[in-house]
Amino acid sequence: MTVQSELMQRLNDSVADIINIRRHLHEHPEVSFQEKETARYIKDFYHQNGIETKNFGNGYGLVVDIDSGHPGKTLALRADFDALAIQEDNDLPFKSKNPGVMHACGHDGHTAYMMILAKNLFEMKNKLRGKIRIIHQPAEEVSPGGAKSMIESGVLEGVDNVIGVHVMTSMPTGSIGYHTEETQTGRANFTITFTGKGGHASMPHLSKDAIVAGSYFVTALQTVVSRNIDPFDTASVTIGSFDGAGSYNAIKESVVLKGDVRIMKESTRKVVRTRIEKIVNGICDMFDVKADIDYDDNYPVLYNDPKITEKAMSAVSHADIPEITEVFDCGPQDPSEDFAYFANDRPSCFFYVGCQTPDGANHPHHSPDFMMNEDCLLIAAKAMGTVTLNYLEK
Ligand code: MN
Repeated sequence: MTVQSELMQRLNDSVADIINIRRHLHEHPEVSFQEKETARYIKDFYHQNGIETKNFGNGYGLVVDIDSGHPGKTLALRADFDALAIQEDNDLPFKSKNPGVMHACGHDGHTAYMMILAKNLFEMKNKLRGKIRIIHQPAEEVSPGGAKSMIESGVLEGVDNVIGVHVMTSMPTGSIGYHTEETQTGRANFTITFTGKGGHASMPHLSKDAIVAGSYFVTALQTVVSRNIDPFDTASVTIGSFDGAGSYNAIKESVVLKGDVRIMKESTRKVVRTRIEKIVNGICDMFDVKADIDYDDNYPVLYNDPKITEKAMSAVSHADIPEITEVFDCGPQDPSEDFAYFANDRPSCFFYVGCQTPDGANHPHHSPDFMMNEDCLLIAAKAMGTVTLNYLEK
């Protein structure tokens, strides 16, 4: 039996384990940077199987090293394990038991398939070449993210390349999606406080109205994408929060606005930021108010190395895995991902495993009725396992 067919057979035999782990994690979700019990559960699993773990970063990140004892390259495989501050709206036997917290992005699935894949690769290590580093990463959902501090503490030392997977409800189960080069957006978040002078609504001339200043800002902001970005580039700017609440007859002293920026090129990031700062300064002059800007340039654009990605996807296409119906270029995706920090440091590949439910219903990521077809988990394990074996062989 080839190493590839042995791994596929082992994964076929492990489906129930993958699903049990996923359901346990789904039932016990924890939000970013607070995944203490999740990390403990992952560690216990490895320790019970005689596999050591190491901690990395300032969160609950942990790593498993698989050393074949033979020369070769080192490949890191990354899976994230945090959940979101969302109240689950699904009626499932393994529905979230933690009020207001839900695995609504599928990171429970990422962790489950990775634990079982890692255990099997560990048991087969003498038949492999090179080394594998399994990265269980916390806190993907919240800036600054869990990847950054793991990298700062050396998680990529000795690692040549990194591969990551995300399940995708927008893609049919059985499909594998990928895109080379810029593949997910970079992100910035900002908080702007406009402060004027409060006063009586009947005497506007004696006050400086923060609501009017904030409103002009929201309107002017709409020109950033329409007037300052090359039509061939991509950007979006959103104000998601504007705390204007007050009373009928008082002029508001200050308002706080919160916003989000997405870009597909790092050069666009600078244009958006500069324009936002200029507009804020202009509003301050115009209305004689003060502004405080807290601007957080966080996740980079996720760049998929073309060589690594094409090699990985060609391995999956040619592996003849019966559960995989297609491997296709799905184009760039809108969301941002802190896997981008790994991809900035090492040539990397981040690809997608379709997880749409059989009825084709829309259960989007980050929604209270997010749902995956659990068949995707075996597919993710097989695809990632195949990529790993193919990479280490050559
Ligand atoms: Mn996610």
